Amino acid sequence: MTALDQFAAQKLRDLEARQLRRTLIDTARTDGIHVLRNGRRLVSFSCNDYLNLSHHPQVKAAASAAIERYGTGAGASRLVTGNHPPFAALESRLARLKGADAACVFGSGYLANAGMVPALIGRDDLVLVDELSHACLWAGARLARANVLAYRHNDIEHAATLLAEFRPQHANVLIATDGVFSMDGDLAPLPDLAALAARHDAWLMVDDAHGLGVVGGGRGARFAHATLPDIPLQMGTLSKAVGGYGGYLCASRAVIDLIENRARSFVYSTGLPPATVAAASAALDIVAGDPDLAAKPLRNARRFTRAAGVPDAQSAIVPVILGKAEHALAASRRLEEEGFLAVAIRPPTVPDGTARLRFAFTAGHADADIDRLAALMRERVLA
Ligand SMILES: *Cc1c(COP(=O)(O)O)cnc(C)c1O
Repeated sequence: MTALDQFAAQKLRDLEARQLRRTLIDTARTDGIHVLRNGRRLVSFSCNDYLNLSHHPQVKAAASAAIERYGTGAGASRLVTGNHPPFAALESRLARLKGADAACVFGSGYLANAGMVPALIGRDDLVLVDELSHACLWAGARLARANVLAYRHNDIEHAATLLAEFRPQHANVLIATDGVFSMDGDLAPLPDLAALAARHDAWLMVDDAHGLGVVGGGRGARFAHATLPDIPLQMGTLSKAVGGYGGYLCASRAVIDLIENRARSFVYSTGLPPATVAAASAALDIVAGDPDLAAKPLRNARRFTRAAGVPDAQSAIVPVILGKAEHALAASRRLEEEGFLAVAIRPPTVPDGTARLRFAFTAGHADADIDRLAALMRERVLA
């Protein structure tokens, strides 16, 4: 063994001892709901394909047509020769759906955050992040070399206290939060955050990865509240309810023009495959044209939470916190024996001591499966 291999093996043993080692498992998704895994067909409650659009015939047809026309790869960065016509079509749909001037599509949601935050924020600036925000918001803030402060989850008072103390020392301040929290399923208080940002001359950025297609009539977290908050930076992903891949930012024309010039993950990375872009447009047409479809994941999540006796779902995501990693792993195995996939979520994805099952409900889940899952949770896991 080389020193490098020994280093890797030691790190892995440490993870294993803490029940935190992860492994890849072959998982074939042959429709929007089921998976083939470990030789069995399971009903999945762990896919973020909330509207089952990854297998929608219109979406697949749009991808196939774009492959025939433009080939499999973009060929270069979008600023060179990779800006195939499907990009502009997708960006205008995104901007319209989000109520923004303009949009910019990135290679992924992670790349969007890793690129846009450093393009807007520098080392003398401040980024205020909800403590439960997604890893890629933190990555963007760190890449910006900014001063980063976490405020307690959804705690406006705490964010206000931090702003009162630290705002004066910084030229620009970004407040960043998930719109729907990825591991907890709750919503950020966006109208309050927007008012706070306005009071302190800060910029509000919302990561709507789990809101688009699911809350606010399908338009996302900004549209899920009693008032419509002003959010200058709305980012998200095309990999969840949209059923494909890619990230985006919706903002003013000026901001988007700057991002296209300065976001390094945009400038120095190849454009998405045209088929992926065309598929996302077809999926967004379905989302925009069918608010009833977008209402179904939350309706199914609520059916589950009521039957299982856990707090009412606020989005398609329902966490059941079990504490120790081994408890979450054991519960996941028990459900798998019964034909359900609910992957255990462990630290560092969630805080220490809060390992959980995270259920993701989709439009197409059958009532009977939801009811059986709820009964299993009530009788076998939570009892
Ligand atoms: C999944 C996710 C991302 C990353 O998006 P990808 O397109 O998968 O890279 C970003 N933010 C949140 C909140 C997410 O859940």
